[in-house]
Amino acid sequence: LGGRITGTIKQMKNATIIDEKTLNDCLDEITRALLQYDVSFHLVKEMQTTIKKIVNLEDLAAGHNKRSIIEQAIFCELCKMLDPGKPAFAPNKANSSIVMFVGLQGAGKTTTCTKYVYYHQKKGYKPALVCANTFKAGAFDQLKQNATKAKIPFYGSYTEFDPVKIAVDGVDRFKKENCDLIIVDTSGRHKQKASLFEEMRQVAEATGYSLILKSSKPDLVIFVMDSTIGQAAFEQAQAFKQSVAVGVVIITKMDGHAKGGGALSAVAATKSPIIFIGTGEHMDEFQVFDAKPFVCRLLGNGDWSGFVDKLQEVVPKDQQPELLEKLSHGNFILRIMYDQFQNILNMGPLKEVFSMLPGICAEMMPKGHEKESQAKIKRYMTMMDSMTNKELESSNPKVFNGSRIMRIARGSGRIVTEVMDMLDEYKRLATIWGKVKGLKMLEKGNMSSL
Ligand code: GDP
Repeated sequence: LGGRITGTIKQMKNATIIDEKTLNDCLDEITRALLQYDVSFHLVKEMQTTIKKIVNLEDLAAGHNKRSIIEQAIFCELCKMLDPGKPAFAPNKANSSIVMFVGLQGAGKTTTCTKYVYYHQKKGYKPALVCANTFKAGAFDQLKQNATKAKIPFYGSYTEFDPVKIAVDGVDRFKKENCDLIIVDTSGRHKQKASLFEEMRQVAEATGYSLILKSSKPDLVIFVMDSTIGQAAFEQAQAFKQSVAVGVVIITKMDGHAKGGGALSAVAATKSPIIFIGTGEHMDEFQVFDAKPFVCRLLGNGDWSGFVDKLQEVVPKDQQPELLEKLSHGNFILRIMYDQFQNILNMGPLKEVFSMLPGICAEMMPKGHEKESQAKIKRYMTMMDSMTNKELESSNPKVFNGSRIMRIARGSGRIVTEVMDMLDEYKRLATIWGKVKGLKMLEKGNMSSL
């Protein structure tokens, strides 16, 4: 769908004249695409009106690049929607902070609590987890299991069913132990029910009063929202905001087929920034939220900066500049593809790097077909083993004429159509990787890469 937005912008780029009609058609098409992407109706309408105001075609001085102004306006408006204009609360090591997690059952609260704690633990905090979720059967066991894995102190009870008492006792205990970041996981419900909101209010008040700090509320309430809930996002986020003082938002399940539009609704409804997104079930599948790459992805351009962050984590330091340099020049020769296939086969984490690049994991390694995908990658590598150095150094698939393809097929014991499939895959990947070039431009806020 993001491709549809990019396609619309491209169509507009190709139009010889940009008049009111072209602009309206383009905005209508983008509106439809954003609605399907779960961005709420009133936000889309608002954006359309704002863009029409910004892009006053008659007023644009001759010589201005109207297309790039329109393009820039769409990009900036979407970024602005994700910026509520207030900074996110950052826990302070000197003053112990109490952070309460709220959200519907199944949104990912318990999982996200642990990810949040794990993230801060790596940054030198001394965190602890309190399980005040007495509604979900097995919630305490789940939190205990997560916490034990990450070596994080935890508190909960199998016999006490009053969430307020558990929260107060847990917070008090960890205050005494000088923990500087105390996370309280609260109950959810399957629906936005009055009983849930009442319980949340009581836990919020009680944790506040229990503090030695004597504040009347937790330092931060984090609203956890499942990105797959579709158009329900706005109403759900608003209902939570009306009941407790939501300070920031975390969006979960942004991996797989999640549409991202609900994120815009969550910000609009809570007037709070998104701080992290969850991208999987594991502890480290958690990313700091950044509006620009998010909007790029929404517009169909891939999350390049997330990709670079991940690259920095998993590729040895001394190899990073070289790889980035190669990528940023779009010089994706077959040998790089070979090396990267090798990486995929050798180590788990690189899989994550690839999953961030649209088109790579989803198409090459679809979920549930890992074995077949691995076999395919191995086959491709066997064919590349039959290539000459010159062929491997080439970034031009045209050098592979009929006789070369036949030679490679014979040498690797495969058939000609398989070699051609491999070269098609190469072309596809080369196009995607070539887009990394856009990263540097994006960092400078330059839209020409879109
Ligand atoms: P809670 O009821 O709100 O505490 O939700 P849980 O933390 O138990 O999460 C519900 C389900 O969603 C579990 O199966 C989690 O593993 C899964 N989950 C949580 N966050 C993510 C995420 O970012 N991506 C994916 N794919 N699954 C997630």
